[in-house]
Amino acid sequence: MEETLTSEDKKSCASCGAELKYKPGSHQLKCGYCGYEEYIEQTKSSFEELELQHYLKVVGENAYTETISLLHCKNCSANQHVEENYKSLSCVYCGEPLIKEDTNEEGWILPGAIVPFQLDARKAKGIFKKWVAKIWFAPNNLKRASLDLEGLHGLYLPYWTFDAQLYASYQGMRGDYYYVTETYRTKNGTRTRQVRKTRWSPASGDVNGFIDDILINASEKKRRDIPSKIAHWSLKELVVFNTKYLSGFVTEKYTISLKDGHHQSFQEAKEIAHNWIRQDIGGDTQRIQSTDIKLSEETFKHILLPVYISSYDYNGKEFHFYINGQTGEISGKRPYSFWKIFFLVLLIVVIIAVIAIFAQ
Ligand SMILES: [Zn+2]
Ligand SMILES: [Zn+2]
Repeated sequence: MEETLTSEDKKSCASCGAELKYKPGSHQLKCGYCGYEEYIEQTKSSFEELELQHYLKVVGENAYTETISLLHCKNCSANQHVEENYKSLSCVYCGEPLIKEDTNEEGWILPGAIVPFQLDARKAKGIFKKWVAKIWFAPNNLKRASLDLEGLHGLYLPYWTFDAQLYASYQGMRGDYYYVTETYRTKNGTRTRQVRKTRWSPASGDVNGFIDDILINASEKKRRDIPSKIAHWSLKELVVFNTKYLSGFVTEKYTISLKDGHHQSFQEAKEIAHNWIRQDIGGDTQRIQSTDIKLSEETFKHILLPVYISSYDYNGKEFHFYINGQTGEISGKRPYSFWKIFFLVLLIVVIIAVIAIFAQ
């Protein structure tokens, strides 16, 4: 692998020498000073699927193929990589100031593919503004906070994806519904009703097929859960990884190991197998008694997916907003203004009182 993420790998402007940054929605780097643009060359035509068992057994759990410079947040323990030169920086998740001297060199499995940012910070800001304007009872200073571009970070999230050939044999029961007429007594005489019953018959067989791109979040959740509402990306837009796409953004290193990610993916593969088995059994309802699930030709990729995060303090409490960097979907926790709600309630009480007085 020829890509490295070392400090020598600077992206500087051929025209003025300033730092080049990735221009969202394109395959270009752009100079913020003189406007010079440079095309990001695609080195490979398709992305590599890495052989899973080789990584797990031979290379080991702590497998890495490259080193990356990482800043570790002492507050929330997120590991983040920043491509550009910076003077001051704070944690994308919790806002804790990060110190350049705390940079560590660590190994990581190089991403195989990336969905580059499609929205730039300006567009993300526009989405924030609209969202904030629409929420009721928000404190006034929230509207000011959302206008602050400095508080908005573009972050590449780490994910594992797994592919495999799945084969499962099973034993179970097939249930077919049928109805019987029952008579029952009431005060007014005898009545009849239809009652549903199930006829069970044994079923066994096997299913097989290819499972593509089981997506596993490789970032430990604890304090920084990306809302599931925005955690959907079109993986059709994955491109071959190139560090140039990271320029100007923050990249998080996975905290869920390949081994643990693989373990989670097996649970999902099991669910897929059960769905296939239920279809194979047929009938109206099914019971699965035993299965033997085998995965073969397993491959994986480490991929990066884009999200914008804004975190800020409001009355000593931390609030987060998230925007999907590909689709623009937004989700966030929001504070409520005590005074806005208080005055509204007060207004309603006054109106009721006035009506009551005039109604007398
Ligand atoms: Zn320039
Ligand atoms: Zn943090």
